[in-house]
Amino acid sequence: MNNISSNLLQIKSRLPESVQLVAVSKFHPAEAIQEAYDAGQRIFGESRQQEIEAKHTQLPRDIEWHFIGHLQTNKVKSILPYIHTIESVDSLKLLREIEKQAGLLSVKVDCFLEVHIAREPEKYGFSMDECREFVATKEWEGYQGVTIAGVMGMATYTDDKEQIHQEFRSLRNFFQELKASFFVGENSFRHVSMGMSSDYGIAIEEGSTFVRIGTSIFGEREY
Ligand SMILES: *Cc1c(COP(=O)(O)O)cnc(C)c1O
Repeated sequence: MNNISSNLLQIKSRLPESVQLVAVSKFHPAEAIQEAYDAGQRIFGESRQQEIEAKHTQLPRDIEWHFIGHLQTNKVKSILPYIHTIESVDSLKLLREIEKQAGLLSVKVDCFLEVHIAREPEKYGFSMDECREFVATKEWEGYQGVTIAGVMGMATYTDDKEQIHQEFRSLRNFFQELKASFFVGENSFRHVSMGMSSDYGIAIEEGSTFVRIGTSIFGEREY
């Protein structure tokens, strides 16, 4: 027996009002999502196109789906009709494809820029300098289908709490820098998505607005 709803409610009771929960349901069945939904959860995170494609049709229409994994450009078109936020925008090529396809479909999607903050090498994501360069071009001001709504990052997987603090703080500071330099008065640029099961407490202390929690709600994933 699992206890998805009690896990969920316990976590939610610990979140400050300024922090929203993305329940990361990847590798868990639609029934598990339904159980969390019935306990009041509406925002769910998935990391694979095929999986979210299959699940979203079986589940209530008012779920706010967040994509949090590496997304291939050729998969963008199929998820756009029902996706709310793509948290893992890790290249300009991907961002431009999202803008193009969203335009063709006349939909709007929130996008977060995924930023490297961990010390360990990462396969995907922007360096802070790459982000600065892109944001400075103001290309995004002309976008019709994409709203640049924030940043997302993952800390190093380590027991060193001070390091995790520093990495999350660097993302929060980076968000503030972009906000002050380029997004003044743009209320839509407002999110810092950071914190998973093992480190969301630290992320909240460092100013997260979205935490993405899977294991602590649904249990261990079976890959
Ligand atoms: C899987 C995943 C999570 C959730 O991880 P847990 O440790 O299960 O809470 C959060 N963010 C991203 C990007 C993920 O891929």
